[in-house]
Amino acid sequence: MIPTVGYLEERFDTFNSMCFGGALPRIPIKLSKARGFVGRLQYRVKRDWRRRVVGREDFVLRISTRFDLPEAEVEDTLIHEMIHLWIAWKGLKDSSTHGRLFRAKMKEINASYGRHLTISHKSTPEELDRDTRVRDHFVCVSQLSDGRTALTVCAQAAIPRIRRTFRLSPTVRSSEWFHSTDPWFNRFPHCRTPKLFPVDPAELAPHLADTE
Ligand SMILES: [Zn+2]
Repeated sequence: MIPTVGYLEERFDTFNSMCFGGALPRIPIKLSKARGFVGRLQYRVKRDWRRRVVGREDFVLRISTRFDLPEAEVEDTLIHEMIHLWIAWKGLKDSSTHGRLFRAKMKEINASYGRHLTISHKSTPEELDRDTRVRDHFVCVSQLSDGRTALTVCAQAAIPRIRRTFRLSPTVRSSEWFHSTDPWFNRFPHCRTPKLFPVDPAELAPHLADTE
């Protein structure tokens, strides 16, 4: 899913009362086009005239919309950032960015609510590149009427339906189908319904080089 601000705000409130006893302040949540992270908490450190830290302010929580992740991963990313917020807001001291305190809170949340939070943000571009399982992918590359290129990776059984939909769709100008086992395609969900993921043609090209 690609989250919206409204969705993230609702989830934030829910996890705040569920996992943090409602201790966290509501902070601005913004969407980002960044490729370098999935979620990120930003804030300024407030200092007094002696340069001593007296608090933290201007919190912003950013979630990237570059990746179409399963909903559970979007939620886990949000909770991960909320642990950072909890530590920063309360002025707690941790041994490092994801230190003892962070890990203890993370373990507690995982155990209590059956979540799968990790220290590393899940599914960053580097991690996506590390997913090297060889699987069958049926890939449709579409040229959209607005000039963009879009990808659809689907289950074999869904091909006829998706092909039919695209043929009738005014947004799709033309489509080409490929079969590939390139692990690069692992990052796209296998769709059962026609979904289009805009991609950078230059990034895509090498992965279509030896497909059928
Ligand atoms: Zn983190």
